[in-house]
Amino acid sequence: MMNLCNIDQIKEILGRHGFRFSKAKGQNFLTASWVPEQIALQAGVDETAGVLEIGPGMGPLTQQLCLRAKKVVAIEVDTSLKPVLQETVGEFDNLTILFENAMKTDLAALVAEQFQGLRPLACANLPYYITSPILTLLLESRLFESVTVMVQKEVAQRICAAPGSAEYSAFTVFCGYYAEPEILFDVPPSCFIPQPKVTSSVITLRTRKAPPCPIDDEQTFFRVVRSSFAMRRKTLVNGLAAGFPHLGKDRLAAILEDTGFSPQIRGERLSIEAFARIANAIYREH
Ligand code: SAH
Repeated sequence: MMNLCNIDQIKEILGRHGFRFSKAKGQNFLTASWVPEQIALQAGVDETAGVLEIGPGMGPLTQQLCLRAKKVVAIEVDTSLKPVLQETVGEFDNLTILFENAMKTDLAALVAEQFQGLRPLACANLPYYITSPILTLLLESRLFESVTVMVQKEVAQRICAAPGSAEYSAFTVFCGYYAEPEILFDVPPSCFIPQPKVTSSVITLRTRKAPPCPIDDEQTFFRVVRSSFAMRRKTLVNGLAAGFPHLGKDRLAAILEDTGFSPQIRGERLSIEAFARIANAIYREH
């Protein structure tokens, strides 16, 4: 089996196929074999798993997933990697590679067709320019038991941030609503070719079977969250008034008081449970 993280091997194969790195496609390939090994191990990939990988590149993670999973489907947008992947991971008969944009893949159909009877997992060293939209798709689909991905360290910290901290954001609440996120380990720039400017982190998001607290209406919940963060450092009631103009500041202030919150509090201090209580109260006012 090929060592797909050996820098000389990487250069030799890519050179022979005339491959050129694309910045626009977020291409930073791994050059440290412990990283894909640890991703596959810590994601809990085993014989019972069907794994979706996004952005296999030249296949270092793909290889580690294929060694452990029952079935792997990898989605790669760059067709110039086709002959490369044929050479590097063509030997695996439990692997299907789709050359398409992962943002446009019908994930429900893919899981139903490819992972029947298996535990669906998602694993990836994500192209950083689409981290948030891809994570949004993967989590909202509720198809995967867990999503284990490499992202920029600051994105990992944002996803795992505590209420009231500087990194706490609407995306934190979004991820926390669908999953339990955990930072697994950091990966320095020296582990890639070409080297990115920033440190990366591998995180795992274990999908929740049910929301962490009762929510009457998801749309209202996420509108409350978005409007509370839209105007950081403003009071909660001002943020909400922008998101729910038909209710007006006075009624919103009354709803907050009734639910046990000061209208003057800042939205970015609220936990998921607090957002849920406020959203439920607003929804019942409709
Ligand atoms: N997993 C490999 C490569 C990571 S670089 C490694 O760790 O070495 C990110 C990969 O995602 C690249 O191969 C890039 O071509 C691919 N990619 C970028 N945008 C994509 C998209 N929209 N859909 C699928 N793959 C994409």
